[in-house]
Amino acid sequence: MTKHIFITGGVASGLGKGITGSSLGRLLKSRGLKVTMQKFDPYINVDPGTMNPFEHGEVFVTDDGGETDLDLGHYERFIDVPLSKDSNATTGSIYQTVLAAERRGEFLGRTVQVIPHITDEIKRRINRLSASDTDVVITEVGGTVGDIEILPFLEAIRQMRLDVGRGNVCYVHVTLVPFIGPSGEQKTKPTQHSVTELRSRGIQPDAVVLRSEEPIEPSLRDKISRLCDVDISAVVNAPDVGNLYEVPLILHDEGLDDYVCDILGLTGLDPDLSSWTELVNRIEMLEDTVLIGVIGKYVSLPDAYMSVVESLKHGGYHHGTKIQVEWIQAEEVEGLLASGRLGHLDGIVIPGGFGERGIEGKIAAAQFSRENNIPCLGICLGLQVMVIDFCRNQLGLAGATSREFDLTTLHPVIDLMESQKDVIDMGGTMRLGVYPARLAEGSRIAAMYADNLVYERHRHRYEVNNDYRSPMEAEGLSCSGLSPDGRLVEFIELENHPFWVGTQAHPEFKSRPDAPAPLFRGLIGAALARSEGRNPHLIKTPIESVD
Ligand code: GLN
Repeated sequence: MTKHIFITGGVASGLGKGITGSSLGRLLKSRGLKVTMQKFDPYINVDPGTMNPFEHGEVFVTDDGGETDLDLGHYERFIDVPLSKDSNATTGSIYQTVLAAERRGEFLGRTVQVIPHITDEIKRRINRLSASDTDVVITEVGGTVGDIEILPFLEAIRQMRLDVGRGNVCYVHVTLVPFIGPSGEQKTKPTQHSVTELRSRGIQPDAVVLRSEEPIEPSLRDKISRLCDVDISAVVNAPDVGNLYEVPLILHDEGLDDYVCDILGLTGLDPDLSSWTELVNRIEMLEDTVLIGVIGKYVSLPDAYMSVVESLKHGGYHHGTKIQVEWIQAEEVEGLLASGRLGHLDGIVIPGGFGERGIEGKIAAAQFSRENNIPCLGICLGLQVMVIDFCRNQLGLAGATSREFDLTTLHPVIDLMESQKDVIDMGGTMRLGVYPARLAEGSRIAAMYADNLVYERHRHRYEVNNDYRSPMEAEGLSCSGLSPDGRLVEFIELENHPFWVGTQAHPEFKSRPDAPAPLFRGLIGAALARSEGRNPHLIKTPIESVD
């Protein structure tokens, strides 16, 4: 019988329900259990694919092309299981399904209501993850208890207790214990109120995870246990930490996984946390710092580049170095270059993006990194601007650009595929999800991947225009990764440069803390070599190779 854990949140948003759920997932996985996860988002948009990154942060892409909430990125990084589009549902998508059934006449003329029709659809989404070989499904309910939009979700997860049996569900509530400066005290009242709110919806939490700035006083645990009617051993404290990969170990020390396993009858399984502990120890030992400039449009909201930043850190863990990210607004690059203020970077990432804003700045950053031997990794739009720079400034094709930014350009070096040109519905033309690429034998990229056939996730419409491939290659920009049919450029690398590499894919979505995405590992290796070259006193022995 599949067991269910439901994670809810109270008091404030942004408390780290996603990290709490992911950490619990990792702890259960280390007991040998097969775990999967999902997120419910109470907003009305059908998925985050068309939402502004300023609103929503990164869109995380799954293998099957789902455009999902960034919390799924945490889930995958912690439990190391590829998820699918089924792992994310919004109020909008749930209503869409119910309304489509209503239009098909499936309700036989009955009144369609939140209870039971919307709640039944929510439960169907929960149950579809309970495959026979899945031991535990962890479901995070986005938003905060008390929000109007969250009510159908609370009702559905309450009903799950009756549907699958009390011993098969566990409710974990994440709340905040704020520190009130003037009185110098940590306060339990917001937690009491949010548990009261949850109970008014019929859900008594089995465990509460108390988020706080500093560790909480033992007396507060006792108070919360009594007032919220939660076993003292299930009142768990997770104070702020600098390194979020430490959270599973903190929750384990607090006994959360033991308690949850007891509730669910998953006894007799010992966790093996040795590899995770080793990872956390490695992170604590990091030395030095490499400075990576991320040139983006949404740099005032770093959540928009969540997986990119995590992948940079993963590369750093491999090389034993800390990463400092310098956020650079794409529109400001030309000004910064004019005053000579980019040369201090050890490496540059040009991440993915859509639309014209900031594009010239990104092209200028690509050119600067190419001409000044600064390691640079271009991701999706990043690869495209590298190609534009190369065609304009190395091949002399003035005005070369992407058809995305100029429909009438003489040199559309980035263009739609022939097969897409007549399709009017742009939403239908995105290349989404995992695609294979064949890497050229002997190329640097193949060496980084240690493989010749690789699978990475995609989310884009435009491609390198094949008409420009031979001139680019003749001048040293190798298209060293292609789709297996040879029609699409997937990877590029510049000869005679420490690291000038681009990919049409998004390798950041598959990076793991203990298995960094090869291109990020390569970038950090090259950035480290540059920082050591510029600061010889930093040289450690032995220096790891660029890959
Ligand atoms: N806007 C570009 C395209 O659609 C790149 C997309 C991206 O970077 N994800 O092809």
